[in-house]
Amino acid sequence: MAKRKVVLTFPPERVTQPIAYHLVKDFDLIINILRAEIYEEETGRMVLDLEGDAEKIEQGIAYLKSQDAKVQEAARDIFLDEDRCVDCGACTGVCLPGALSLNKETWKLEFKKEKCVFCELCVRSCPVQAIQVKF
Ligand code: SF4
Ligand code: SF4
Repeated sequence: MAKRKVVLTFPPERVTQPIAYHLVKDFDLIINILRAEIYEEETGRMVLDLEGDAEKIEQGIAYLKSQDAKVQEAARDIFLDEDRCVDCGACTGVCLPGALSLNKETWKLEFKKEKCVFCELCVRSCPVQAIQVKF
């Protein structure tokens, strides 16, 4: 049995498609939905564990891409180096689930890891490389 953790991003017109149903029924995969969100502009994002035959996982991922989903390997963990962070707020603008925000009283960055979907967008946005990804 193989296992992959992926982040899926769906365009608005695909948000209501029964993606999980097809992964289970058509590709015999065991799926664990770790997080599913729909954002203001109605873009859907899902973090999934996929488990099953390695070839079936590849076929399932190909199916997802055929449904216009962007598929990324999910990071296992996101790490914020508080000593390096200068609280500029640049990362908060790309964090759709709101895991990163500036405290309005202290203007310090706050990281609520329980909201993180491991999309890694913040990593590239940080000018001082204070956010690191662990696979
Ligand atoms: S990886 Fe970064 S941008 Fe993505 S949800 Fe987590 S904290 Fe936000
Ligand atoms: S972009 Fe980097 S330096 Fe700026 S608040 Fe985010 S983690 Fe800190």
